Amino acid sequence: MSIEREVKKRAEEKCEFCGHDEHLEMYVVPKTPEYIEGADTAVWACNTCVSQFDDEDNRDQNHWRCLNDSMWSEYPAVQAVAWRMLSRLKNEGWPQDLLDQLYLDEETLKWAKATGEGLDESDKIIHRDVNGVVLKTGDSVVLVKDLKVKGSSLVAKQGTAVRKISLDPDNAEYIEGKVGPTQIVIITKYVKKL
Ligand SMILES: [Zn+2]
Repeated sequence: MSIEREVKKRAEEKCEFCGHDEHLEMYVVPKTPEYIEGADTAVWACNTCVSQFDDEDNRDQNHWRCLNDSMWSEYPAVQAVAWRMLSRLKNEGWPQDLLDQLYLDEETLKWAKATGEGLDESDKIIHRDVNGVVLKTGDSVVLVKDLKVKGSSLVAKQGTAVRKISLDPDNAEYIEGKVGPTQIVIITKYVKKL
């Protein structure tokens, strides 16, 4: 059976989100991990739903109240898309309430999040200097106090410039950069962006 026929059969020839039974098509879920294959990579949906998946300007939040039921689908592809739509609409209030109830297993949640939805500013790792200015890879900073360099007798003096910093991807408090020939790890609150 082709993937399309398989998805259609699973969906009982209805939109897996709103239940509509006309103008249906297969939609391959973006950013599907490689280990997921065949019919599990796609959903069966009406053109109203499909047209609103990725088009932010053409989104009718009331249409998506259908997720109240369909987010409980047993199929991970449907769950992942439902989660994404709720995340995109969560500022409306009611989608956030549904998101709070929706439980996805770890792998499906990772899949759902692969498009970057649902990341709050507070979840992103943002490096800021002593004044709260956002630091980027390649920036130059200056030390605002004398710092002992771990594992050496070196003291990096206040006012020392550190060029071409790199950011610790896991920790917003650390950056790395070169003082003279030595690569050092520096705490962001002790630097000021140049
Ligand atoms: Zn639909």
